Amino acid sequence: MMIQPISDRQLRYWFNRINRIAFDGRLHAAFEFKNFKDGGAAYTEKVRGKDIFYIAINKKIRYSPSCTIISLAHEMIHVEHWSWGHGSRFQKRMLQVIRRAKLEKFL
Ligand SMILES: [Zn+2]
Repeated sequence: MMIQPISDRQLRYWFNRINRIAFDGRLHAAFEFKNFKDGGAAYTEKVRGKDIFYIAINKKIRYSPSCTIISLAHEMIHVEHWSWGHGSRFQKRMLQVIRRAKLEKFL
């Protein structure tokens, strides 16, 4: 079996799909694969004082659809609720997003 990395096009597909199904299409964010100097799967940046968000996904996890899609969904919740951090309501929302967008197969 050929192992293929997730492409930029597929990343865009999944962002749009998860946004439409689990966030009612409300999220606005730039997103891309990026070479990370250090570890970590993904992060989100917010432009100070503005509702402008940027999601970076570590290029090294492209070969794992599970890591990539779940990390993307995780970062999308940060965009939706920037102030939340990773508390229990974040975890609840994560499960809701996974169920709504039918991402269980990526867990
Ligand atoms: Zn996080």
